[in-house]
Amino acid sequence: MKKVAVLGGGIGGVETAIALKKEGFDVELFSDREYLFIYPISIWIPTGEITPEKVKIPLEEIAKARGFKLTVDKVVEISGKNSSFTLEKTGKREDFDYIVVALGQTKLKHKGIENTLSVCGSPEEIQQIKNRLDSLITKEKGKIAFGFGGNPKAPEAVRGGPVFEVMFNVHNYLKKLGIRENFEITFFAPMQKPGARLGEKALKMMDMMFKKMNIKRVTGKKIKEFTQNSVTLEDDTFIEADLIVFTPAGDGHPVIKSSDLTKTEAGFLKIEDTCQVVGFDNIYGVGDSTSIDGPDWRAKQGHLAEMMGVVTAHNIAVKEGIKSGELKGYKEHINIMCLMDTGNGGALAYRSNSKAMLLPMPVVGHLMKKAWGVYYRLNKLGKIPKII
Ligand SMILES: Cc1cc2nc3c(=O)[nH]c(=O)nc-3n(C[C@H](O)[C@H](O)[C@H](O)COP(=O)(O)OP(=O)(O)OC[C@H]3O[C@@H](n4cnc5c(N)ncnc54)[C@H](O)[C@@H]3O)c2cc1C
Repeated sequence: MKKVAVLGGGIGGVETAIALKKEGFDVELFSDREYLFIYPISIWIPTGEITPEKVKIPLEEIAKARGFKLTVDKVVEISGKNSSFTLEKTGKREDFDYIVVALGQTKLKHKGIENTLSVCGSPEEIQQIKNRLDSLITKEKGKIAFGFGGNPKAPEAVRGGPVFEVMFNVHNYLKKLGIRENFEITFFAPMQKPGARLGEKALKMMDMMFKKMNIKRVTGKKIKEFTQNSVTLEDDTFIEADLIVFTPAGDGHPVIKSSDLTKTEAGFLKIEDTCQVVGFDNIYGVGDSTSIDGPDWRAKQGHLAEMMGVVTAHNIAVKEGIKSGELKGYKEHINIMCLMDTGNGGALAYRSNSKAMLLPMPVVGHLMKKAWGVYYRLNKLGKIPKII
């Protein structure tokens, strides 16, 4: 039986391991964390609607249910030429026929970034947002700035959706506590039209939401630096804030950057439509670690990472003669599909080559996202079949 190593135990890596196992491979997954972190539902940590523990699924439980091996260790080096990788504690591994890289991405470093907290960080960092918000709530007043950045070398690595979600959730949480009018909420981003990838109609709807929620907007100005209580912009104007919640755009993973694998200037894996890393027959790339090729509005998303895992497993099986059929591609699965949560409802955002829409879903949108979280956990643990 051919052996496949999956590097990274996130949304893409876990789905790849499950799909490879279904195709009949001997699979071992390597992760620096003992758990899979379900990022899409972590947006409720800052408002206390969920705890970080409830966002985690122990990888050991998934591995047991799905029949793959698990090694918790950090990948520190990958050699494409030697088909090998090195782990921090247990050393070099060169005993695999295939390697799938699903290590995710890191974030660009802005000047003064240590003065900010990201909704896309570690569970501990997201929990800190809650702690800082709680202390402002105790004072019953404050100024909060929410923003996200761009990466000119990788436009698809912008992560704006979760920032909007946490900001709308915080607005509704403060409203529920009856103290929203004591808080100033400002949104900032360097793009002229943040969220434009969702289409013109979505922008108009967001415009209305900002006005209704009394959220100030500062867009189209590059970020110069962050200080303890301000965001300084390129024209030296600044946004005062007691709490700065900022998510920089994605940057290539350091292990990929320092490897001999084919990568873009930004450090993302260059892959074929089949997910094979360009120039390396037995190495594949999945999810946020890769450079996604496609329309201007393309974005890195969990459901695309999962599809890339399924495509990868299928293509390796075809290559190995385990199954017949054509090789498949990930590009046909590129779309944006996101249930954008507001705490008291939500909106379904969808973008494809032929469609762009944002469908308001008061109340039910929030419940649907909650239900998705339960479904995702049960599915990964093999308790219910995959439906989406
Ligand atoms: C707050 C938030 C909300 C989101 N909401 C949505 C949503 O609603 N819908 C949607 O489709 N997408 C959403 N996304 C995007 C989605 O979560 C990502 O696209 C998806 O997680 C990518 O999967 P991945 O496996 O490539 O990366 P990750 O899920 O980031 O997984 C990478 C894994 O690799 C591990 N790793 C990293 N370095 C090493 C190393 N050196 N050695 C070993 N292991 C390592 C990490 O611990 C991690 O588990 C959201 C993202 C965030 C941050």
